[in-house]
Amino acid sequence: MHITLYIKCPACLSDNIKKNGFKSYGKQNYKCKDCKRQFIGDHALTYQGCHSQKDSKIRYLMVRGSGIKDIACVERISKGKVLATLKKCHYPITPKQRQYDCLEIDELWTFVGKKTNKQWLIYAYHRDTGEIVAYVWGKRDLNTVKKLKAKLKALGVSCARIASDTWDSFVTGFKGFTQVIGKFFTVGIEGNNCTIRHRVRRAFRRSCNFSKKLENHFKAFDLAFFYINHGYV
Ligand SMILES: [Zn+2]
Repeated sequence: MHITLYIKCPACLSDNIKKNGFKSYGKQNYKCKDCKRQFIGDHALTYQGCHSQKDSKIRYLMVRGSGIKDIACVERISKGKVLATLKKCHYPITPKQRQYDCLEIDELWTFVGKKTNKQWLIYAYHRDTGEIVAYVWGKRDLNTVKKLKAKLKALGVSCARIASDTWDSFVTGFKGFTQVIGKFFTVGIEGNNCTIRHRVRRAFRRSCNFSKKLENHFKAFDLAFFYINHGYV
């Protein structure tokens, strides 16, 4: 019986590989001729957390509504590995357009650690393309709305109309813009709130899942927004 193994460098994905002796514990060692990285083939790994495809799979499961413990259990890796992968994530979103016809804005309630430690997400959404254009975190007040307005300006985004519900912070915060106000105009973003609550485990309603650390909380949402904007989920 012949078994053919295709081995790629886990760092640069090159297949310009050579054998490079054995590890002290007996496993074949390989070396990438391009980037000089030394590694053991995925097929010979004992611990699945070192698998070259594992990080992308963890990220994908995370934006598919899986919790940290679920991923660790199903993938047979440690919780530390899952959290370390989340911590390593750096996925800032950038607006795909400069000029939007209409941006819907709304707020979403989340919490960290305990329910009294509220973290409000206030964000702008473009219904036609399903894009999350910009978002900020903070209290549910005028200051946070102003932060979103400043962020849109800093990103160089302009829009013909702003649609929001009747919350007065939105009305005063976006004074100077052409505004359309009422739940009728924010159907798109309300639907997207539902998507977010289905995608990010720590945003599930009536569940026992929540973030313990603010940093991880933000990272999990950054990741989900990036994946949503680029059509991965
Ligand atoms: Zn390499």
